[in-house]
Amino acid sequence: MKKKIHFQLMGIAAAAIFMTMIIIVAVFYDLFQDQVKEELKTYAELIEEAESRDLFLKKESPAWDSGLRVTLIRQDGTVMFDSDVQEAGMENHGDRPEILAAVKEGEGYDIRTSATVGMNTFYYALLTQDGHILRVAKEANSVWSIFASAFPTLIFFGALLLLVSMVAAHFLTQSLVRPIENLADTIEEPAAVGIYEELIPFITMIQSQHADILKNSMMRQEFTANVSHELKTPLTSISGYAELIETGMASEEDVMRFAKGIHKSANRLLTLINDIIRLSELDANQSEETAEDLNLYQLAQTCVDMLQLNAEKHNVTLTLKGKKEIMVLANRQMIEEVLYNLTDNAIRYNKENGSVVVSVGEQEGKGVLTVEDSGIGIPEEHQERIFERFYRVDKSRSKSTGGTGLGLAIVKHIIKKQGAQLTLESKEGVGTKITVMFANAGQDN
Ligand code: ADP
Repeated sequence: MKKKIHFQLMGIAAAAIFMTMIIIVAVFYDLFQDQVKEELKTYAELIEEAESRDLFLKKESPAWDSGLRVTLIRQDGTVMFDSDVQEAGMENHGDRPEILAAVKEGEGYDIRTSATVGMNTFYYALLTQDGHILRVAKEANSVWSIFASAFPTLIFFGALLLLVSMVAAHFLTQSLVRPIENLADTIEEPAAVGIYEELIPFITMIQSQHADILKNSMMRQEFTANVSHELKTPLTSISGYAELIETGMASEEDVMRFAKGIHKSANRLLTLINDIIRLSELDANQSEETAEDLNLYQLAQTCVDMLQLNAEKHNVTLTLKGKKEIMVLANRQMIEEVLYNLTDNAIRYNKENGSVVVSVGEQEGKGVLTVEDSGIGIPEEHQERIFERFYRVDKSRSKSTGGTGLGLAIVKHIIKKQGAQLTLESKEGVGTKITVMFANAGQDN
């Protein structure tokens, strides 16, 4: 980038210097031409005076030494007098541009390439009062010879300017690029945003991405630590029971009890591992995500039927309400998981003789699912965090009812993937109501 800016600046400087030089030569030559013309005009007017005509219009005038040539011509083009050449041998001058112009307009001017290399001949013709044409001519440098003589000086100053531009470009490039180079070290600081206005979106994007990466890495670390911890408890108890059986000291009754304990812990491990696998599938986007038209009521019915026994065990009444033809466009497995997790929680965190009502309805043409319980409720300070992985309000209650602390994390993930919206209303000791509003209405078929 530095090199590119530097070369571009140098390119601009070199082009500017070259153009300036060409313009200077052109302007200078223009002025030079004007001056020669003015000079010739003055000579012509001087010679035209009657008294000086006698002085000049003769072959041996001292004026001719300075390179001036005077010709007197009739309007028909015949040469009457020429200071350089014998008039008799001269061709008719009537077609020369300066003569034609003088006959027509009173004066004429022309420049022609001279026989001498690098020189031009400048002509000025004047219509005299007695009807003849007085032409004055002089050789002077052509634009090329002026350019050639000025060339060394131009090259010298051009090179000098180029050198100055090179140094200036170097420092300018450095001062432009330095803040960007320093950015790598200071990108975390809020002041980094103020460097260049144009970089603000870029910097804020990097800053937010960086913050996300840090947050993700912390979450991952925390998750790994939690997983290890969660796996350790049932495994320790399996290992303990097995050891007791291994010693052969346990009575037959104890062995039965220990085997039951091992079974319970192994089941716990399986549930936990299943939830972890599900979460990592959702994280890695591996899960099958085909959406189909689903009858929300039917799915809720299946879930309620499946959990009815469970509810009875907890002395909780579980009922389903609502419209039977609510269709949503979503992924079947995901919706089943949401239904199962929410209803299962509503049963597990309920009170003796409590109730759970699953209802299916519609709002603004979109399917709405509500799971409401008359359970223990969630204290306000925990409400935001219960969707975090392994976050539980009451750890022992969660564990004793077979909870992994991952159910709501899975629900949250699915809701996000399906573009749905979830709202939680809960009051400690009164109950909890979770509402899911689906994004796409399905087709009834
Ligand atoms: P768990 O497997 O522990 O139930 P979840 O992720 O499903 O994990 O829920 C996280 C925590 O949120 C639970 O441990 C519980 O404290 C609280 N919770 C979830 N649903 C309810 C509910 N319906 N009523 C009261 N508390 C709930």
